[in-house]
Amino acid sequence: MLVLETISEMHSQVAALKASGKVLSFVPTMGALHQGHLSLVEIAKLHGNYSIASIFVNPAQFNSKEDLARYPRTVDRDLSALRAAGVDLVFLPSEAEMYPAGGTKDYGVYILAGRAKEGLCGATRPGHFDGVVTVVSMLFHIVQPDIAVFGLKDYQQCRVISELVKQQHFPVELVYGPTVRDEDGLALSSRNQLLSVAERIEARKIPEALFAAERLCREEGEHATEKIKNFVRGKLSESAMIRPDYVEICDSETLAPLLIVDREAQLLIAAFVNNVRLIDNIRLSAAS
Ligand code: AMP
Repeated sequence: MLVLETISEMHSQVAALKASGKVLSFVPTMGALHQGHLSLVEIAKLHGNYSIASIFVNPAQFNSKEDLARYPRTVDRDLSALRAAGVDLVFLPSEAEMYPAGGTKDYGVYILAGRAKEGLCGATRPGHFDGVVTVVSMLFHIVQPDIAVFGLKDYQQCRVISELVKQQHFPVELVYGPTVRDEDGLALSSRNQLLSVAERIEARKIPEALFAAERLCREEGEHATEKIKNFVRGKLSESAMIRPDYVEICDSETLAPLLIVDREAQLLIAAFVNNVRLIDNIRLSAAS
């Protein structure tokens, strides 16, 4: 497995790979890798014949210095996991390499995310998705992937990146991987490492609320979104440690909020478990 840290090395390597006809599939990550990331690597390997992963904790998408500082960093373990998963190349740039103008938010030329950034995490984390599309755009220029794989766990991010690719005309096919969960249902997330044992136990109320709401919609035919959302809020309020940031039901494509589940819809939750903010979502179907 090749590990490259500079953009100029990447340019030479990518040019050689393209010249030899390789189909490049790409998984961008912020490290602290878990099985969710590795599932995307597996998907990437099915879609191309040369797999590339990146590890870069992108300062531009964090809303506070504290959150950035405490984001878990486990590079040596990550590289071992990617090697074991059969990744061909890892791009591991420094902050100075990616943002030569320096500074956390002072990233000079940047891209504004499109309509999908409105609401949900875009409302409570201003600037977050601008930071995401800026770094993904830079990574696409550097890696020039044919295919890029993103996880549906970060559902709004998937929609925002879909708009980026369309509106910036990137010749990249986007592939989305399903959410990988722990045995008790909690979506795997790098942030789970920040939970205490007691918080980790309480956190499972988030997927429990999602799954129960999905059953309420599918099996009992409840399609009024206010009722489903109140049901979810009620479930989450059973834990004194959980404070919902938002509970929303949106059109799965446009992310416009819905009054009735009358089409493919997404139930999305962001919630603090004490100080750790977790997100999760599930598909609700109109057909029932
Ligand atoms: P991150 O390192 O958190 O920026 O995530 C890198 C990629 O992994 C993103 O496309 C995420 O959506 C995806 N990802 C994170 N957690 C999961 C999970 N539990 N299942 C599937 N994909 C995930």
